[in-house]
Amino acid sequence: MTTSDLIEAKLYEPLSGSRVRCHVCPWRCDIGPGKLGVCRMRHNRDGVLYSLNYGLVSSIAADPIEKKPLFHFYPATQCFSLGSYGCNFHCIHCQNWSISCTEPRGGGPSQLLAPDVAVELARRHGCAGLSWTYNEPTIWFEYTYDCARLARQQGLYTVYVTNGFITTEALDEIGPYLDAFRVDIKGFSDSLYRDLARVVRWREVLEAARRAKTKWDMHVEVVTNVIPTMNDDEEQLRGIAHWVREELGELTPWHVTRFHPQYRLTRLPPTPVETLETAGRIGREEGLRFVYVGNVPGHGSESTHCYSCGQLLIKRYGYDTRVQGLKGSACSRCGAEAGVRNSTARKAPA
Ligand code: SF4
Repeated sequence: MTTSDLIEAKLYEPLSGSRVRCHVCPWRCDIGPGKLGVCRMRHNRDGVLYSLNYGLVSSIAADPIEKKPLFHFYPATQCFSLGSYGCNFHCIHCQNWSISCTEPRGGGPSQLLAPDVAVELARRHGCAGLSWTYNEPTIWFEYTYDCARLARQQGLYTVYVTNGFITTEALDEIGPYLDAFRVDIKGFSDSLYRDLARVVRWREVLEAARRAKTKWDMHVEVVTNVIPTMNDDEEQLRGIAHWVREELGELTPWHVTRFHPQYRLTRLPPTPVETLETAGRIGREEGLRFVYVGNVPGHGSESTHCYSCGQLLIKRYGYDTRVQGLKGSACSRCGAEAGVRNSTARKAPA
């Protein structure tokens, strides 16, 4: 690859007057000639839509899979993690704002990494799989698609760490090659998504998470960053937990993580640990078997215990992870299913 490579976008349609409509995320931007989509990474040049960030890597690391966080998916493995630039949300508390709220080359150092090189690097670093993370994966959809196909051919797992704002068409395109969908459900109200992320059609996130699970049998884990006064009320927390239990199932891990003031949301304090523990209680009351308090190092809920007999299944301290009480995906003592996935084998699409 060279810096001059431009890749024609997938999933767009031509409109009259050299306009185009992008169908990767639910914004479904109608983009005039010479203009960019909301994510600022897709450009209409004379009626052809191009991806501006194909292979353009802003961030790269071999991370513990627990850092995504994914707690029930290949525990204790290393995951080759790649990020680019741009996002389709504009969250006022974004911890990666320097790469998500920028032009393609405006966010600092970057390198071009062809998909085969990315997969080779993952193998060379002893990683069991790849993830697209740090910025929103759909924003370099074509690249993640090409990488995921190659990775799966070579027996590596594939992970989206996502806000879930992806169309059915895009999800179905990459679905056969994606093993895990680590999705944010940021709140459970129109006002929360509007005020936090400048997004109205937030329920498309729920539809994508449900489809990832039910049609594509991806492993799904949910994160909610609990922010004082914005989404820490019982109604929203119970709404999320109830929805996850009903639509994704009781074994779906729910991570309730601590907010730290940053970017444009510095007026609020960090989330009190008691608030996170209340969220955990609400999750369990709603029937979720695995609720984890996140961003609180050393918190007692980091480890995984069997909900049936109490045996320690996976011991965690920070990113130090020991699998010790599992037989396959279930408790080795009583056999209760824990929903831990260690295989890329999946059911046929529904
Ligand atoms: S991916 Fe970008 S251009 Fe396409 S619909 Fe979403 S925000 Fe618009």
